[in-house]
Amino acid sequence: MKVLVVGGGGREHALVWKIAQSPLVSTIYCAPGNAGIARQAECVNIGAEDIAALRTFALAKGIDLTLVGPEVPLCKGIVDSFEARGLKIFGASRKAARLEGSKVFAKQLMERHGVPTAEFRTFDSAERAKAYVEMIGSPVVVKADGLAAGKGVIVCSTLEQALDAVNRMMIQGEFGASGDQVLVEHLLEGEEASVLALTDGQTIAMMPSCQDHKPAFDGDKGPNTGGMGAYSPAPVIAGELERSVERDIIVQTIHAMNREDRPYRGVLYAGLMVTEAGPQVLEFNCRFGDPEMQPQALRLKSDLVPILLATIEGKLDEAEIEWHDGAALCVVMASGGYPVKYEKGFPISGLDEVEAMEDVVVFHSGTRLEDGAVLTNGGRVLGVTARGETIAEAQSRAYEAVGKIHFEGAHYRTDIGWRAVARQQL
Ligand code: AMP
Repeated sequence: MKVLVVGGGGREHALVWKIAQSPLVSTIYCAPGNAGIARQAECVNIGAEDIAALRTFALAKGIDLTLVGPEVPLCKGIVDSFEARGLKIFGASRKAARLEGSKVFAKQLMERHGVPTAEFRTFDSAERAKAYVEMIGSPVVVKADGLAAGKGVIVCSTLEQALDAVNRMMIQGEFGASGDQVLVEHLLEGEEASVLALTDGQTIAMMPSCQDHKPAFDGDKGPNTGGMGAYSPAPVIAGELERSVERDIIVQTIHAMNREDRPYRGVLYAGLMVTEAGPQVLEFNCRFGDPEMQPQALRLKSDLVPILLATIEGKLDEAEIEWHDGAALCVVMASGGYPVKYEKGFPISGLDEVEAMEDVVVFHSGTRLEDGAVLTNGGRVLGVTARGETIAEAQSRAYEAVGKIHFEGAHYRTDIGWRAVARQQL
């Protein structure tokens, strides 16, 4: 089989790495890919959002299966466009991806179908949004409706911040049309976790839980990033709690989408806050997580390709999906200054030494090849990922590997997994 993976970050490297192990696959293409992906796939110079060019490429090469990493092409309808030409593609349709593409739609769907989430109001007028914020006071969360590369959510501890957030989104247009509508939401307190499930619309297969670390610095300080690390499982949602998340959130949402004539197929990602009153949905994504996919890829025992095909064909009930026991953990190594201002183009050393380590895989995010050397080429550069019997073991193995890798200005958190290790549940 010929497989095309769309995207070029750490998530896509983890997917390519897993697909490369499938005996069913002869060739993998990745558009646009990166220096790490280039070791397992043929990188194609087409942007992940250029749906027309991707479809032309898939038709020309006779691609048997396409897997989409990022949300933008899904929300723009890449799945519909490929399927219209008879191409097999894994991911949510444009109608289904609205669950991520519009936070207002997602919140209203949850409200209609009783999925637990924070109390909220939606506004298309800045004046009314500000009047509401003044009425309920701080703390409060202001969210732009549309996609904003993870930056459209502002957690406000003061009234001034909240009014400023409304101004930035609705008056200054910082997020373009994504901020034409905003949500004002009550702040939830608790511990965050991510739950993902594969679904063909009928059968739902839960993936192991995970937790990412958004803030840039140790102790969850500093600005939010795309994610500085992740681990799986997340002990905060073990046992009965995990079953209730499956029943009351995942199954409920997929059924709701069916009932609203937006059948959901692909992977559903629920970002949760585990509060004293139980888990509440912060957001839905219509794709695998980044960096959550990196530890999950190391935990997936079964061949990913038949699972993807079964999901597309509505036969997920027949798929064999086994996960390794134990845990996996990913430490993101970023460019100094990320997520604000950083330089690129520094050589990376130590990758060969880490390759010899057992149960450790280095997934590339922002890297490129130049004259045979691997150079930094983005904010998040590498996802150093390790497996272990416990989260503590995976953590020490990942950090041992991180210690061997060097590039100028490298920045990483030294406490990925701290909550889980503190719980000592594994
Ligand atoms: P979202 O993209 O909606 O998941 O929001 C990004 C981040 O903002 C989440 O991971 C949380 O840390 C935070 N957040 C979003 N909504 C809330 C809320 N209602 N209460 C507290 N924190 C929130």
